Amino acid sequence: MQIIWELQYGRVTFIREDGDPKFYGKRCAKGEHALFHFIKTRLNESGNDFIKKRAQRDGHLLGDEYQPYIRTRSATSKGKNLVIFSGFYALRGAEADWNDGAVTLCAMSAYTRHVYHYRSEVERLGLTGRQRNPWKRGYSRNGSGGEVQYPWSTKAECRAEAKATGATALFCECGLTAPTYPCEYQE
Ligand SMILES: [Zn+2]
Repeated sequence: MQIIWELQYGRVTFIREDGDPKFYGKRCAKGEHALFHFIKTRLNESGNDFIKKRAQRDGHLLGDEYQPYIRTRSATSKGKNLVIFSGFYALRGAEADWNDGAVTLCAMSAYTRHVYHYRSEVERLGLTGRQRNPWKRGYSRNGSGGEVQYPWSTKAECRAEAKATGATALFCECGLTAPTYPCEYQE
């Protein structure tokens, strides 16, 4: 299976290769469930934490009670942060496109989360006694082009910033042993 991520367009394409199975079954979306299980398993082999589930079981007004989707297990899961589903479920099963050679599915963020990467120590003022002007671990997010953002903040400051925008703060220690890329969390 070859994967073409186009997350800037909200989509991903899975290309069937020699040796990859075909899937069948229209009743209860059997073929689409089998395909999504296959995709989920392959994605999880490279550091992701995806589950397959009926979308309506999560309360989504999507398709019918059988329509499956793939999503990241929780906001704190390592790896990619996505929901993946068919945008043409009402027309045909996703397995039909896959069996023909390639299927393009919708792919977008599952959780609002901010990933902060370790940068260096930062000094903070205001405490007294032995704890005066303590140095703490400093973190910041990556820019949209992957560049390091400055200034750097303490974990508490990052958590407050994320919470203010309704996001979950995640901390990646990659900078401690740099270069260790890709980072364990992806936004
Ligand atoms: Zn990182």
